[in-house]
Amino acid sequence: MISVVGIGPSREDMTLKALNRIEDADVIISYKKYVKYIEDLIQGKEVLTKGMGKEIERAELAVQESRAGKKVALISSGDPGIFGMANVLFTILGKYEDVEVEVIPGVTAVNYAASLLGAPLHDFVVISLSDLLTPLSEIKNKIIKACEGDFIIAFYNPLSKTRKKPFQEALKILKDNRRLDTPVGLVKSKDDGVDVKLTTLEDLSSEEIDMSTTILIGNTMTYVDDGRMITPRGYVVPYSLHPLAVDFYETYIAGEGVEGPNLSCEYYPCHAHPQNCTFCYCPFYPCGDQSTGGHWIKEKGVWSCEDCRWIHEDETVQCIQGKLSSLVENVDDLQDKKKELLKLRRECLRDTRS
Ligand code: SF4
Repeated sequence: MISVVGIGPSREDMTLKALNRIEDADVIISYKKYVKYIEDLIQGKEVLTKGMGKEIERAELAVQESRAGKKVALISSGDPGIFGMANVLFTILGKYEDVEVEVIPGVTAVNYAASLLGAPLHDFVVISLSDLLTPLSEIKNKIIKACEGDFIIAFYNPLSKTRKKPFQEALKILKDNRRLDTPVGLVKSKDDGVDVKLTTLEDLSSEEIDMSTTILIGNTMTYVDDGRMITPRGYVVPYSLHPLAVDFYETYIAGEGVEGPNLSCEYYPCHAHPQNCTFCYCPFYPCGDQSTGGHWIKEKGVWSCEDCRWIHEDETVQCIQGKLSSLVENVDDLQDKKKELLKLRRECLRDTRS
């Protein structure tokens, strides 16, 4: 039996199943560097190592040892199925009969990085920037499509001392397709731990990145709060409608609301001139999404929209107006259809920000 064992990003993050398979194995086959991560588990065992670039040789060795009747643990960092040894082994396995294989999953770099950064993942893609086996044109095309789909993007293998072009090309595509203030998380593994850094697309540079850095690029809705990178899923936060909001929407639904800048309002401009006051009371309140400028007032537990300009932009108002009437027929709908309203908000965010 060959167990392709994902050991995750560090010794502490290994799954119990991975631990057990290593302990049960007769022979350990691994890239040299990974052996030190599992030293305490492999005392007295046969250990066969091969260097970087010898992946096929390691897989062949695993098959030979297994056919000799041994229990083999073929070690892969992270998860064996994500740029790991499972794919390598299955590439050659068709040559042989009667070789039993199981794949033991591990924590891949994107999960690990996300856990250190906060909660940045919603729908996401993982793209390796290594063009050793993949044409650069294919990598670029995937990044373009990921941008079009507004996916959060995790980059593996971003660059090495000799391979810098894919990262430069990726950065160019990102800057052409995403806002420059898009949050970016960097998680760099080192021998003595890990470095975690938050930056933006505008400030992202190759100087702070190496081969062992995982890069997470946020999407339209990703924001940073208190040092954490977060992409909201759109959960409804319970609240009661303010009496002034009830009055406002009764007037709006009757078709008697004010459109555009409300110059006769004594508080105009409550944000900055020019501002569109059509949704003076936001139909999405409280959206719980800081990407447009709202935030919780700590201690009071109240959602503040003071810094949200988005709801007062003409393009935003047009997008909402076009779809709101089919959702909100009476004031109660503002609460009863909150999930649908928050979906409309996401739609308009994408339309106005991408
Ligand atoms: S005004 Fe902005 S921050 Fe406030 S609820 Fe509406 S979209 Fe969210």
